[in-house]
Amino acid sequence: MEGRVGAISAAVEPLEGPLPSGVGPGRPAMALPPGLLEALPQAILAFDAQERLTFVNPAFASLFPFMAAAARPGAALQEILRHGVAQGQFPEAGTRPETQLAWLAQELAAHRNPGPPREVALAGGGWVEMQEHRGPDGQLICLRSDITRRRMAEDRAQRHAEEDPLTGLGNREALFRKLGELPHGRRGRDPRSACLLLFDLDDFKATNANLGHAAGDALLVEIARRGRALLRGGDVFARLGGDEFAILLHGIGTPAQAMSFIGRLRVRLEQPLTLGAAIITPSLSLGVALFPEDGEAACALFRGAETALYQAKRQGRHGHSFFDRSIAAMLDRKARLTQDLRAAIAAEEITIALQPQLRTRDGRHLGFEALARWPSAAHPVPPSEFIPVAEEMGLIIPLSRLVLRRALEAMRSFDRLGLDPGRIAVNVATEQLLSEDFPREVRAALQQHGLPPERLEIELTETTLLDRSADRIVQVLREFDAMGVSIALDDFGTGYASLAHLTQFPVHRLKIDRRLVRSIESGDSASLIARTVIGLAHGLGLEAVAEGVETPAQWDYLRRLGCDVVQGFLPGAPFDVAGAAAHLSAGLVAPTE
Ligand code: C2E
Ligand code: MG
Ligand code: MG
Repeated sequence: MEGRVGAISAAVEPLEGPLPSGVGPGRPAMALPPGLLEALPQAILAFDAQERLTFVNPAFASLFPFMAAAARPGAALQEILRHGVAQGQFPEAGTRPETQLAWLAQELAAHRNPGPPREVALAGGGWVEMQEHRGPDGQLICLRSDITRRRMAEDRAQRHAEEDPLTGLGNREALFRKLGELPHGRRGRDPRSACLLLFDLDDFKATNANLGHAAGDALLVEIARRGRALLRGGDVFARLGGDEFAILLHGIGTPAQAMSFIGRLRVRLEQPLTLGAAIITPSLSLGVALFPEDGEAACALFRGAETALYQAKRQGRHGHSFFDRSIAAMLDRKARLTQDLRAAIAAEEITIALQPQLRTRDGRHLGFEALARWPSAAHPVPPSEFIPVAEEMGLIIPLSRLVLRRALEAMRSFDRLGLDPGRIAVNVATEQLLSEDFPREVRAALQQHGLPPERLEIELTETTLLDRSADRIVQVLREFDAMGVSIALDDFGTGYASLAHLTQFPVHRLKIDRRLVRSIESGDSASLIARTVIGLAHGLGLEAVAEGVETPAQWDYLRRLGCDVVQGFLPGAPFDVAGAAAHLSAGLVAPTE
């Protein structure tokens, strides 16, 4: 670049003037071939020390058609630029006098103190690279190159890399780039305040599972189409994955402004739509973080909105929540819990409790369910708290491996004591069933403990069957089935699993959720569901297991309904391993009659 600028200054100077740089004494001076400057595709302008135009080549007029008229010999740099701005040559200068003046001042400064090349947009969509060079005698050389093609290719590549292929919205990268561009240090009603809104669709998993993934995809596309119509230029609408979307709104800085947008968003997005033969009405859960008060850095703001969404979803469907520091404190606790749990798993501090399962008819012992326990935590943490954390934070696989090992060890120890523990049930999480190695791993563990697969049952919940990867899960379950391991569907009757799921997946037992068992004698809808589940199980050739049996009346009622197995505090609360051995050696639990 230096050499080229030197050559140009040689051309601009009278030929008998000083030698161009790079041409030293003792070497022949190289003359500029005639017509070279005229043929160059780059525009070149030269100004003297008083900023008067001394040279311009023809490429200038074709690159800057709106400014050509002003670029006459002797014209002042400032005048040429001012003319360009007035003619709308530079869209970045805007149309208002104050923005134009600011742009002009900035350009003049860049000319007077030349720095690295700048990329500048032109009217009509073109781009130029502008670079200035100041000679030792105060002369100013300006080079302008057309970089439109390169910019277009870059824009295309960026659009491609930052686009969600399904909906055509931006993706996570696009959102984070825009979050990174938010101006810092602004407050309140400033037009540069902004608001980040994350939302997802309630029950999307069920829509996907019941109507098929093509319908789920069509729903996402429609959500994107509806939402787009609400946005103004500069706002960002992105799909972050699954059914999670983000909207970054500029100029919305107060909760009231955000609420008014949420109202409009709901009106538009929550209109019913037809998906195949079904009509569904989308429902949104939203989390909101305000810029800059809830986070100035891109990831802090995003985390704030994520926290708020998490909070909204905890409160049920169709809710919204603003970022709140107390939620952040709760998440900090969760992070600590995760850390402690990871350490507890590594130190093998997780133990099991064994809860008996009995034949409803006569109270005969059939087996145990193994339930994870974390006894050594500073404050006892119940599984209802640490299991979801383990699932969310990627600890469920090592935790379950430990639970399975402890369960099989317990079975083995009962066998050695000459007791008959029956079958052992362990709970498995969706993530385990997504691993194709899981059946092999379980088979190896059974072999290692000398136990036949028939002694093991795995319990999975209804939501597992609704997973997007249900096809893979059904394969894994079939392997277990073929191996002889039985499969129970846990907490049944409160989720969304349909009859189709029960016939598609190899399931042997339905465990009626304890919330249904609790009101089984009341005659209300819960008891009706419980009765229906028992009928459904038998109709499909499956066994019905009632969880959470706490009263003799419940047990009695279940027996009359023909429920096969009972589990709960009445038949037996969860024991530690020694307690379970004592329970077995004490013999059968007496039936209630
Ligand atoms: P679950 O599999 O439905 O387990 C039954 C839960 O009901 C256990 O709670 C048990 O203590 C409780 N329970 C038993 N009888 C009664 C009763 O009569 N009344 C009432 N109100 N509750 C009763 P726990 O041990 O707190 O476990 C909660 C859940 O945590 C389990 O529900 C299961 O979903 C999950 N979980 C526990 N251990 C594991 C594990 O090793 N792996 C996985 N993935 N999940 C586990
Ligand atoms: Mg269970
Ligand atoms: Mg259960």
